[in-house]
Amino acid sequence: MHQVDQIYINGQFVTPHGEELFDLFNPANARRIGQVRLADEQDAISAIRAAKQAFPAFSRTPKAERVDALKRMHAAVASVETQLTEAIIEEYGAPVSRAVWMAKHAASVLLDMANVLDDYAFTRRLGIAEVTLQPLGVAGLITPWNSNAGFICGKLAAALAAGCTAVIKPSEMSAIQTAIVTRALHQAGLPPGVFNIVTGRGETVGAVLSTHADIAKVSFTGSTAVGKQILRAGAETLKRITLELGGKSPVLILDDADLQKAIPMALQAGFMNSGQACIAGTRILVPAHRLADVEALMVEEVAKFQAGDPNDPATSIGPMVSLKQWQRVQRYIQVGIEEGAHLLAGGPGLPEGIGAGWFVRPTVFSRVTNQMTIAREEIFGPVLSIITYSDEEEALTIANDTPYGLQAYILSSAPQRAHALAARIDAGRVLINTLAHEPRAPFGGFKQSGIGREYGTFGLEAFLEPKSVLS
Ligand code: NAD
Repeated sequence: MHQVDQIYINGQFVTPHGEELFDLFNPANARRIGQVRLADEQDAISAIRAAKQAFPAFSRTPKAERVDALKRMHAAVASVETQLTEAIIEEYGAPVSRAVWMAKHAASVLLDMANVLDDYAFTRRLGIAEVTLQPLGVAGLITPWNSNAGFICGKLAAALAAGCTAVIKPSEMSAIQTAIVTRALHQAGLPPGVFNIVTGRGETVGAVLSTHADIAKVSFTGSTAVGKQILRAGAETLKRITLELGGKSPVLILDDADLQKAIPMALQAGFMNSGQACIAGTRILVPAHRLADVEALMVEEVAKFQAGDPNDPATSIGPMVSLKQWQRVQRYIQVGIEEGAHLLAGGPGLPEGIGAGWFVRPTVFSRVTNQMTIAREEIFGPVLSIITYSDEEEALTIANDTPYGLQAYILSSAPQRAHALAARIDAGRVLINTLAHEPRAPFGGFKQSGIGREYGTFGLEAFLEPKSVLS
């Protein structure tokens, strides 16, 4: 049994003032694997106080010192990669191949930001003005469970690179991963108070971070509903706010695409991170005249995705993180059936041969219209919709007809055509014939997928404010 009973404030591991015990589960078998003692409002306030005290000195540190700190943090997190991988599998249920990537990513985002910082000029001359980019103050960083360690490290890297100090509120469902990352980051030897990690509930610790006058900036990744609450809460003190929220990303398969390549790639885009990905390509747009070919190939290819034991290297789809999440996904599958979509693969209930755990059958609906609930709302599970279009203009209209705008995919054998289309899609990122990530490029959403950008210089500048001195 895991017992996580400490939080990290002012460079020390302390027992939270909060007394609530929160159960942790292994989603692959639905067994309880431990408990975390949650921080409360008072803990959040203590953490903010520590970060505020640390800010004046840390904000004035030379750039080289912060580059060095980020590199030490990178080395520290990299040294616990194996432990972190195991925790991600046990506590979150990511398939082993994904979990390995996630643990590496948690370390690499720190090094990526060290390199961005190294190249970044904080001062520039504009006419008679000297413009300096100045750190905002204390940052509140709030993470979700679907990539908790990666978001802790990524948000912290950008905040510290800028010279901000931070209070992190990780997802309460990811406490084992957080404990491993916290111990590693502590080893990097930063001054006390520069970062503080308080695992607690959103309604308590998260709410303090989004309202407290001493928090200058909130960077949040999570659901659109909570993002809106944070924006409203932060308005009173005019906090700078970055929101990375949900998505309903289109995958445009153009009529010139080689379906043998496009269909497997579309499924990978849709089923990544067991479908629990804000960037998942969940609306697959295909030319109407190729629907029969698409459906036939899709059935063949979906069968290659195995949902099951995350420790089995053959598994590509792990369980949903919680019973609540499993029920939500099941409900959407039911709604898809009721609204008249054609169930091409998967469906309700547990995958064949699985008797326990929060597993979902890899599910693809066809003949979906873009107005159906399953095409409009974020499901956050391995449930995809095939929608047909008659021509490129219609494809574009459907792609953009969504409240979201986080990511889009174009699969085509005509690069120029794909690029021309990419220019007209309302999404923060458009991936053409690739599923690759580029850590130097900005990441974030148009429309209700969020506000602001993370990664690279754009991510760094989200923690900075320009000041002009004229003489
Ligand atoms: P969530 O919004 O419920 O929770 C996210 C975090 O916010 C958690 O730490 C939670 O405790 C906290 N929180 C909850 N209520 C709060 C409040 N009132 N004030 C402050 N904090 C509060 O989301 P989740 O269920 O953990 O994660 C899934 C969602 O995250 C999905 O909708 C997904 O699209 C989104 N997501 C987005 C991205 C992105 O980069 N755009 C990445 C991953 C996940």
